Amino acid sequence: MAAKSQPNIPKAKSLDGVTNDRTASQGQWGRACCALTGPVVDIVTGHARLSDIWAKTPPITRKAAQLYTLWVTFQVSSPCPGVGTQQVLLYTSLPDFCHKFLPGYVGGIQEGAVTPAGVVNKYQINGLQAWLLTHLLWFANAHLLSWFSPTIIFDNWIPLLWCANILGYAVSTFAMVKGYFFPTSARDCKFTGNFFYNYMMGIEFNPRIGKWFDFKLFFNGRPGIVAWTLINLSFAAKQRELHSHVTNAMVLVNVLQAIYVIDFFWNETWYLKTIDICHDHFGWYLGWGDCVWLPYLYTLQGLYLVYHPVQLSTPHAVGVLLLGLVGYYIFRVANHQKDLFRRTDGRCLIWGRKPKVIECSYTSADGQRHHSKLLVSGFWGVARHFNYVGDLMGSLAYCLACGGGHLLPYFYIIYMAILLTHRCLRDEHRCASKYGRDWERYTAAVPYRLLPGIF
Ligand code: NDP
Repeated sequence: MAAKSQPNIPKAKSLDGVTNDRTASQGQWGRACCALTGPVVDIVTGHARLSDIWAKTPPITRKAAQLYTLWVTFQVSSPCPGVGTQQVLLYTSLPDFCHKFLPGYVGGIQEGAVTPAGVVNKYQINGLQAWLLTHLLWFANAHLLSWFSPTIIFDNWIPLLWCANILGYAVSTFAMVKGYFFPTSARDCKFTGNFFYNYMMGIEFNPRIGKWFDFKLFFNGRPGIVAWTLINLSFAAKQRELHSHVTNAMVLVNVLQAIYVIDFFWNETWYLKTIDICHDHFGWYLGWGDCVWLPYLYTLQGLYLVYHPVQLSTPHAVGVLLLGLVGYYIFRVANHQKDLFRRTDGRCLIWGRKPKVIECSYTSADGQRHHSKLLVSGFWGVARHFNYVGDLMGSLAYCLACGGGHLLPYFYIIYMAILLTHRCLRDEHRCASKYGRDWERYTAAVPYRLLPGIF
């Protein structure tokens, strides 16, 4: 598996009003960011101070602040052709039309899971539509309108990071204050007595403004995940600007991550039943994580490839593509199997057969007894969280696309391995206390968590 890397960046060209100096200084910052170990060693050995690194970091700019404000505002509101100058809300008031013409897509008004206090929220599922409109505009701009350069995100990368942080902290702080003083559903609030824990992990379960603006659904999907694919496109444009071509590694990262993002929006209704929505409260972990962590760390591969334009050999590229597609297949099918099983109450076929089931029961906070079912067939009979394995295979594929020249692009798989292992243990702990003996029967029937024979 050979990979060629061409680490020399040609002299920066002027584009979109971006001066040579600024582009060059961002290039240096990017290089410094890629040489992760250098600054750390310098600090440890006393050759540099934190303030030296701080001095090299580009500050927030008026342009970045305007861009970011425009971006977030656009995700909330956009002018709607057909209603003249009237503004309609892309997230809150632009009703979904995709489900009317896309067969198999579930959009429009959907119900979430029952909260611990027994509330069932309604959601306006229109993420696919927002993603499509945003990308349509992006391509229209790149090929017809030329309002801005497609490298605009890259060119303002660090100044935009400050803006994302401001929003991340503002929304987490607002959620905290809201939880104390005007919660959407007081019975679903969780106060631990520890101020910092409350701030980090959140008080409110499903904070909302008005009937439709749901913090969890909005901040996780938009602006974070919609931005993911745009950021990658901007990195590809920058690679072409700097090196006169887009490498196959950059194409792979763009394509594989786009599949993951489109899958998310295609299955946004399914997302309402995942741990993020069903169990986590909304605090800094989700608020800041969605605004900053996700767009900045999930896109490290593309950023790395701008500076190190890896061109993979054909067998390497095919290997990465296959790993990514097989990982995606396992991820999607495993999640679909559980979703189908739960929606049909077990009256479905899994891998062509009637599924094996463990009947289980639990008592909710109000003392009521409920019945549920655990699936023991399909991927849920292979391991108790095989959906995470598919996700991890896909994540590894993105990293392998960057070759073996640096550890930085592998941050994602390391992070995902920690995140999903921790999530798996956290979820199993919760399920064990929820289902008791019934969960023990499931762990006896399916003894491994992630990898049969290993863990
Ligand atoms: P899961 O979709 O695995 O949901 C876990 C829940 O499913 C459990 O709490 C339990 O809920 C139910 N359950 C567990 N076992 C069974 C079974 N055998 N049969 C039926 N129901 C069962 O977890 P997540 O929400 O964490 O993950 C969803 C997807 O999102 C995963 O594929 C994951 O990889 C991905 N993900 C990606 C992230 C990213 O940053 N890229 C972050 C987090 C997740 P109940 O109480 O209803 O029984």
